[in-house]
Parts: sequence; structure tokens; C-alpha cells
Amino acid sequence: MKYFQEQEIELVEYYEKVAHELVHNYFKLSNSYWQKHIYEIVTLRNLENIEITNHALAQILKYNRPLYTKKFANQLDTIFRICIQDHMILDTVDINKEITLKSLLLYIITHELVHLVRFGNFMELFETPAAKREKEEKAVHEISLNIISKFDSDIGQRLEKCYLPVC
Ligand SMILES: [Zn+2]
Repeated sequence: MKYFQEQEIELVEYYEKVAHELVHNYFKLSNSYWQKHIYEIVTLRNLENIEITNHALAQILKYNRPLYTKKFANQLDTIFRICIQDHMILDTVDINKEITLKSLLLYIITHELVHLVRFGNFMELFETPAAKREKEEKAVHEISLNIISKFDSDIGQRLEKCYLPVC
């Protein structure tokens, strides 16, 4: 399996910041929003076997974990884990010359953060039947393209032409 190297990991970190800011502004979120809706972005190297897929470029999973501060020692907190599938992304960039790794990473992270915001309070996505989920995927895809097009219309247009399976 192909893994991201240091340079590609740095791109993930950079585009996480860009996507975070774009999504934050698009939904006009408060600064405290992200303290209540915690997420982490993990690349293939650090994924558990169960988090790896050959059917998507990335997927977002929800976990309940204990809060680490003493004050809340016995409470569970929800954390979203954005699981980046390096091997799938590298293959897509190889095959599809229209699309660069940078624009793909921007799309993927934006897409997952849009999911997070839409379901941050109500975890519908994780319990809905396939048909409804498909509808949600379509909505998230359109919002993500919209956000990216406002940021860079050229990247937006290129992405629009590609098949981008992100769960
Ligand atoms: Zn999705």
C-alpha cells in the first residue's frame, strides 16, 4: 500500500487549516464551536485496520472517548476522526491528470468538515439508511464545491468534472 511521505503529510496539515477556515466562515460558526466539536485528521500510516477502505478517498468516523481533563474525568466526549486513505488518493492523482494532490486534499477535508458541521449536533449520518445517506452525500458534495469555488474557481471547475468518492 502507498503511504504519504513527509511532504504530502505537510500538505494535509496545510489544507486542514485552509479547509477549516473556509468551512468556519461559510457556516458563520462561533469561535467556541470547535471546542465542542472535536476532530482529528489521520493519514493511512496511523489508521486502524478497521478504518481503512478501498472504496473511498477518505471517511469520517465518530467515536466516544473519555475526556482527559480531571474535571470531566467520567464523561464521554464525541470525537470525529477523519481517516485519509493515502493509497486511494495517490492512485486518483496518478490516473486523473485534471486534478492535483493539493486540490484533492482541499476537497476531501472540506467535504468531511461539512459533514461534521451538518451532523455535529445530531448524528443522523451515522444511523441513516443508504438512500438518505446518498442524498446527504450529494448535498455535502455540492456545498463543498460551492465553498471551494468561492475560494478558487479554477480548482472548483476541475473538481466538478471528477468522480470523488468521499464518505
Ligand atoms: Zn461524504
